[in-house]
Amino acid sequence: MGFIPHNRLTSSMEKKIALVTGANKGIGKETARQLGTLGYHVLVGSRDAARGQAAVDELTTAGLSAELLPLVVTDPTSVAAAVKTVEEKYGRLDVLINNAGVGIDFGVPASAATVEQWQETFATNLFGVVTTTNAFLPLLKKSESGRIVALSSILGSLANAANPGNAWSGSGAAYAASKAALNMYYVQLARELKDTHIKVNLAHPGYVKTDMTGGEDGPAHLGVKDGAKTSVALATLDADGPTGGYFHNGETLPW
Ligand code: NAP
Repeated sequence: MGFIPHNRLTSSMEKKIALVTGANKGIGKETARQLGTLGYHVLVGSRDAARGQAAVDELTTAGLSAELLPLVVTDPTSVAAAVKTVEEKYGRLDVLINNAGVGIDFGVPASAATVEQWQETFATNLFGVVTTTNAFLPLLKKSESGRIVALSSILGSLANAANPGNAWSGSGAAYAASKAALNMYYVQLARELKDTHIKVNLAHPGYVKTDMTGGEDGPAHLGVKDGAKTSVALATLDADGPTGGYFHNGETLPW
C-alpha cells in the first residue's frame, strides 16, 4: 500500500466530493477544474484510464484535489464498481454531474439516421445517465446536500424544435430526442426527491467548442470556461435553490 500523506487524506475527506462523468476532456474536464477551484474534491470519471489520468494530472498539477474514477456509463458493471469505490472511500457523494454524452447524427436528416445511431445515442445519453444516477442515488442520499446535474441541451427542447423559425430543428433527431427523454427522466426524478435535500437539475451549456462540435475550428462560439458555468452553478446551489429545472446561465429554458 502506498504512503498517503496525512494532510492530503484529511483534506480530501473534509472536502465535498463531486463526480463528473466524461471528465477527461471538453466541458467535463473544465467543470472538474472549476469545482476543484471552488474547493471540491473531484472524481474524474473517464472510460479510458490513460486519458482520465492525464486530466487528473493536469488538475493536480494546478493544485486542485482530484482523482481518477474509471467509469463507462454504458456498462452497468463499470458503474457498480465505481459506486463501490466511492462508497468504500468516502461513504457518500455530494455532487453527481452526468456530463458524458455522444452526438453522432448531427447534420443527418431525421429520416436518415439509422436505428444503430439511435441506439448508440440513447445508450449513452439516456440509459447511461439512468444507470449512473440510479446507482449513485443511495450515496447522494447520504450527503447533507446532494446535487444532481445532467448535461441536457437546448436541442432537447420540444418547444424550441416545434418552432418553425428555429434554425436548429430538422437534423440530429436522435441526439435531440435523447436529451428530451433525459429531461423527462430528470423532471420525474426531481418530483420523486422533492422532499429530500437533493436537487436535480438539467443544464444546457451553450454551443461550446469541443470535440463534439468540431473542435477549435468548428462552428461553436463558446469556450469551455463559459460552457462549464451552468453545470457548476447547478452543482453548487444553496439549500433554497431550484430543483426540477432546465437552465442555461441562470435562465430557465422552454421545455
Ligand atoms: P466531448 O468533448 O465529446 O466529451 C464527451 C465526454 O463524454 C468524453 O469525455 C467522452 O469520453 C465521454 N463519454 C462518451 N461516452 C461515454 C461512455 N459510454 N462512458 C463514459 N464516458 C463517455 O463533448 P462535450 O461537448 O464536452 O459534451 C459534454 C456534454 O455536454 C454532453 O452530454 C453533450 O451532449 C452536452 N452538450 C454539449 C454541447 C456543446 O456545444 N459542446 C451543447 C449542449 C450539450 P472519451 O474521451 O473517452 O470519448
